[in-house]
Amino acid sequence: MTDSTFNLTHHIRSIPDWPKKGVIFRDISSLLEDRLVFRKTIDLFVHRYFTTRIDAVVGIDARGFIIGAPLAYELNAGFIPVRKKGKLPGTTISESYSLEYGEAEVEIQTDWLKRGDRVILIDDLIATGGTMLAAASLLQQLGVEIVEAAAIIDLPDLGGSRKLKEAGITVHAFCE
Ligand code: AMP
Repeated sequence: MTDSTFNLTHHIRSIPDWPKKGVIFRDISSLLEDRLVFRKTIDLFVHRYFTTRIDAVVGIDARGFIIGAPLAYELNAGFIPVRKKGKLPGTTISESYSLEYGEAEVEIQTDWLKRGDRVILIDDLIATGGTMLAAASLLQQLGVEIVEAAAIIDLPDLGGSRKLKEAGITVHAFCE
């Protein structure tokens, strides 16, 4: 399904001043609603990891779930959610990180991933990298190998992908 003429960028809406003034929100809804474009997007990720041993795809709340679950299915891997604090039952570990205003916290259940498991960490977008770094820290605490931190979109001017690389994490995004 992948072809060289397919350009993801054309299918992502930019909404100025949302959710607050000064932010250009990159809305992937316009990419998900078109069945062919959605399929091609998932296929891009599938083709990237197809020949690699991946035990699980770890998706970040919430748009990372939309991309991560079909990817896991296609890779014959498990799917593990990283959720906002307070949503997961059982034994969890959590990591807080700074937002522009205040703090956020993400959480993962400790039951599923084993030391040495190989995972793809996935979200729709990397901005400052705070979310992805916090999720990566949870995986590192579990002794899991992050094969790649992946997103549809990277906003390099916000420095997130650079911070991830500086932390020794391989990063990939399909567009800016
Ligand atoms: P950050 O932690 O700053 O890298 O932000 C990444 C998270 O916030 C991802 O889960 C994104 O869905 C969301 N996000 C941040 N900035 C944007 C943006 N400009 N457009 C869409 N989503 C964004």
